[in-house]
Amino acid sequence: MRILVTGGCGFIGSALVLHLVQDLGHEVLTLDALTYAANPISLMPLKGNNRHRFAEADICDHEKVGALFSEFRPEAVMHLAAESHVDRSITGPGAFIRTNVVGTQVMLEAARAYYNTLSGAERDAFRFLHVSTDEVYGSLPPGGFFTEESRYDPRSPYSASKAASDHLARAWHETYGLPVLVTNCSNNYGPRHFPEKLIPLMILNALDGKNLPVYGDGQNERDWIHVEDHARGLVAVLEKGRVGETYLLGGRSVRNNLDVVKTLCAIFDRLRPEAGPHERLIQFVTDRPGHDRRYAIDPGKAEAEVGYKPTRTFEQALEDTVRWYLDNESWWRPIREGRYSGERLGLTAE
Ligand code: NAD
Repeated sequence: MRILVTGGCGFIGSALVLHLVQDLGHEVLTLDALTYAANPISLMPLKGNNRHRFAEADICDHEKVGALFSEFRPEAVMHLAAESHVDRSITGPGAFIRTNVVGTQVMLEAARAYYNTLSGAERDAFRFLHVSTDEVYGSLPPGGFFTEESRYDPRSPYSASKAASDHLARAWHETYGLPVLVTNCSNNYGPRHFPEKLIPLMILNALDGKNLPVYGDGQNERDWIHVEDHARGLVAVLEKGRVGETYLLGGRSVRNNLDVVKTLCAIFDRLRPEAGPHERLIQFVTDRPGHDRRYAIDPGKAEAEVGYKPTRTFEQALEDTVRWYLDNESWWRPIREGRYSGERLGLTAE
């Protein structure tokens, strides 16, 4: 299959592109604007692979996006490009509205124009998969789970912009008949995660003996999914999902932030006992405004309809993730020494 992937140089996008090309043998065009969050090194394993092409492009650039559709002639689009960091959306929401809302509209319009040129089997098979987050549903009461029927209640500029993009994607299906699928996923973790997010920030701070800043009382709960499980889930929805439907993807691993950090400390105590105990590095910092208390996913529909199943257990996959950062300093060191040292950020985030 020829698949156009937007945001393929980001955290989830790179895991997805590697899976599509290396494991499944698909032909992929990665479209990415290479913002601060991109790390093209993540796709280095595909260098010289003739099933992969890269186009540096902004999803808001209507002409360039349209030209790439005509040239590549995708059989499917997997749309991941977005501004993704909640803290940045609080200090600078404009970029989130531009990329996540306007950029999604440009992608949908370009896909619609292209779809209208297709006929027969090509037209029947075409899919546009819009990738989104469970944060669009707001905060859950204790013990609750999101389902596909949960009410939208976004509470940060990031989640509001993603909610808007979800509505646009569904509207392009209802109004124009574009064969759209939507996925909303919980918090991802794994290799190649930009070190401003909770888990990689904690790993790299622990490695450097720096403080491990935890928002508020650390009791905010999240469902954690390994990024490779997410990539497999996206492919399952693309291949087997019903057009116009939404599927929630999660890891069935709800943990509070403090537990996540303590689990990381225990892993570091095992791997580097001479630097322990690492829990002494935990520091509670002022909570983020509007910090949602609980997100948790019920992935039952995706499990029943498309055969999605998370394969990784949190504690083991977290240790694998720590080992990846220990073994891949050349990936993160340049980022870490640039703008994003844990000390200067002083924040944790999902
Ligand atoms: P990321 O920030 O790591 O990567 C985003 C990528 O999009 C980067 O490569 C960036 O260069 C690119 N990009 C940004 N603006 C662009 C533009 N205007 N034009 C073209 N490319 C642009 O993000 P991620 O964590 O990999 O998330 C990918 C998608 O999955 C997003 O849509 C996000 O909302 C969604 N999601 C993320 C999580 C998570 O836990 N990280 C959970 C659920 C859903």
